[in-house]
Amino acid sequence: MIPKTHPRYESLLLREKIVKASEKGYLADSAMIAHGRGEAFDYLIGEKTTYPAKRAMYVAVAALLLSDNPVISVNGNATALAIDEIIELAREINAKIEINLFYRTDERVQIITSLFRDRGYKEILGTLDDDIEYFTDIKNSRSSASKSGIYTADTILIPLEDGDRAEILKKSGKNIITIDLNPLSRTSKMSDVSIMDNIVRAIPFMTKIAKDLKTQDKKVLMDMVNDFDNEENLKESIEQIKIRGI
Ligand code: ATP
Repeated sequence: MIPKTHPRYESLLLREKIVKASEKGYLADSAMIAHGRGEAFDYLIGEKTTYPAKRAMYVAVAALLLSDNPVISVNGNATALAIDEIIELAREINAKIEINLFYRTDERVQIITSLFRDRGYKEILGTLDDDIEYFTDIKNSRSSASKSGIYTADTILIPLEDGDRAEILKKSGKNIITIDLNPLSRTSKMSDVSIMDNIVRAIPFMTKIAKDLKTQDKKVLMDMVNDFDNEENLKESIEQIKIRGI
């Protein structure tokens, strides 16, 4: 039990969630390393949502609301840290949720499926009984996707995604949005919209934004998307790390 007065309370709480998820058997062996990398970047930005991240989130939500088939991709870490918030966001923006594991095993897929279904979210995609398609001739889990989900999606939110997988999605012509605390990762660099923030802060904030933007004219949302320059925004995100580090 972590005392609430501990200066690193929030951060330790997230660590505990990752450890529990690992014990339950639905995380990849490298999941803790990925979490640690994220944690280090979060430390550098003062564990607070920065202005460029907020701007990217507005654009991301606008893009998702404008899409015909938006999908939120989830892996073990995203599930462990923000499952309830992801379900809430999906419902708010009318997006599908798909299990998308870099190191896909039947056991992990099964556990994550149950976690979503136990919360009343029965329509989860990427399950063992889902219809799977492949983006490349090589049929491995890195290129697999649900036929009605990521495979046919126009916009995909890929939080905490690996660069190889992001590249396959990008090459297949998808509009990709990432939530990644590392602004230098391959995923952040190749995404159309990169949100440098912790998933636990970003997802609930995006749900709030969605409530607001849903009532806006489509033209306003389109202008927001068209006016956005991801490279420029990433540069500003990196500046935030420098500013905090002084
Ligand atoms: P890439 O392959 O894109 O260059 P990588 O090798 O670091 O990046 P992974 O380790 O597979 O890719 O992905 C994990 C990414 O998720 C890391 O960039 C890490 O910074 C980020 N990350 C980890 N935890 C969180 C979190 N709680 N919120 C947001 N991002 C996170």
